[in-house]
Amino acid sequence: PAPTNNLEAFWMPFTANRQFKQAPRLLAGARDMHYVTTDGREILDATSGLWCVNAGHCRPKIVEAIQAQAAELDFAPTFQFGHPKPFELASRLAAMAPTGLDHVFFVNSGSEAVDTALKIALAYHRARGEGQRFRFVGRERGYHGVGFGGVSVGGMVANRKTFGPGLPGVDHLRHTHDLSRNSFTRGLPEHGAELADDLERLVALHGAETIAAVIVEPVAGSTGVLPPPKGYLERLRAICDRHGLLLIFDEVITGYGRLGSAFAADRLGVTPDIMTTAKGVTNGTIPMGAVFASSDIYEAFMQGPENMIELFHGYTYSGHPIACAAALATLDVYQEEGLFERAAALETRWADAIHGLKGLPHVIDIRTIGLVAGVELEPMEGKPTARAFQSMVKAYEDGMMLRVTGDIIAMSPPLIVSEAQIDEIAERLARVLKAID
Ligand code: PMP
Repeated sequence: PAPTNNLEAFWMPFTANRQFKQAPRLLAGARDMHYVTTDGREILDATSGLWCVNAGHCRPKIVEAIQAQAAELDFAPTFQFGHPKPFELASRLAAMAPTGLDHVFFVNSGSEAVDTALKIALAYHRARGEGQRFRFVGRERGYHGVGFGGVSVGGMVANRKTFGPGLPGVDHLRHTHDLSRNSFTRGLPEHGAELADDLERLVALHGAETIAAVIVEPVAGSTGVLPPPKGYLERLRAICDRHGLLLIFDEVITGYGRLGSAFAADRLGVTPDIMTTAKGVTNGTIPMGAVFASSDIYEAFMQGPENMIELFHGYTYSGHPIACAAALATLDVYQEEGLFERAAALETRWADAIHGLKGLPHVIDIRTIGLVAGVELEPMEGKPTARAFQSMVKAYEDGMMLRVTGDIIAMSPPLIVSEAQIDEIAERLARVLKAID
């Protein structure tokens, strides 16, 4: 039927799982661990909004910083002008980042962070006289946002095929779906570190001298929570080093504490050359992303070619004053409340609670790491994704927000979650799993 009003027209694509005719799920407010709906119901947020509200909702310190900045300096044009806050923020981020990643480029989203990272990699090689390195390697089932670069290196075929071949010279490692399937893994799975050797196949196929960079999420998030097997990222790092490829970690989800460390690179002990972040940098408030690189890579990007006319990159809203104010206040909250350490301390409780769902109807795999969990369901006969979608709807009716991707329920609560709320999340999900078809 034709949409009857604008709201419905807006909503249709988002309720596109066509097996269900949905009423819009409209949110009116939020505080700490909960949303409030337009019809006045409290919803426990088990997904940190969209993996971004790491410190919980509407935190007063962040709200006040945004309000004060909006009243003081609403916008400062980038390029010819500036203001102090991006400098302060970049220094604080660099101090938090893995050693060596001491330069920061500000963008407005994860997708822009990815496109920027890919461009940095190309510019770096070109500045070193290796401009023939233009190829990128992503992974099947990788997710890197919806920019043209991100869709191209991303490994979700459905997201790509509408747009033709995408960027030229992109290959995808073939193994992501094998990283941790049916493993009921806590932390890192044992098996499959040699999966990284698939990169050698592409090096042999194209010649290392044609490949610019490899981009991976340290823990694939949006495609269903896939922690890497032990040794896997180390092996990718070693192959990149051997052949002069840059390694890009897309930490848009894993950054800012979700794994119990500032970044996944810290927790997993592997440092990339370039790191993309977004979401949690402002606690999901004002859109912002931050791309990290070492000084030699960054300098090549900013100064490698002859001048700014030859190389130009940046966004109108790069380093936006209000986003910077939000980010600085967010970092204060993370630090003052020790939220990354808190996530680490709660990991066992989280894993115990979620792995306790093993054996419930439809559950074929559970994977947890940090304060993240994927619960994979047996696909419904002839209706893939229907079962997980149904569980999201039922959970919402029952008062909890889940996220689903394919047949996987993905959860990652704000890092302020209490032990009782962790148990509540597991109990609510158990009820949902028993109630769906
Ligand atoms: N990279 C990763 C790893 C992501 O998870 C996402 C968003 N889920 C993005 C990039 C894109 O971020 P955005 O939606 O802010 O553009």
